Amino acid sequence: MNRDVRIDSAPGLIVLGWKSGAEGLFLRVRGEREEVRLVCRCGRSHWLVREQFPGGVASLSVTCHSCATRGTFAMEGVTLPAP
Ligand SMILES: [Zn+2]
Repeated sequence: MNRDVRIDSAPGLIVLGWKSGAEGLFLRVRGEREEVRLVCRCGRSHWLVREQFPGGVASLSVTCHSCATRGTFAMEGVTLPAP
């Protein structure tokens, strides 16, 4: 059973990897043995996910499919796409 993490309590997460599936968005985060599932304020866990590299720093941007709540997390161990 994966732990659910609400978007409101997630701002400090460092994301090491992610995968999106039928049951929602699962994040591999620093300090957690198991993947956690990201849950929105509206109770859903389906997110539109984008990796961003502003200024060479990787971050993960998520937007809720149902209510458009947004969040951004720092990413670690992610290789920059080739220029
Ligand atoms: Zn939502």
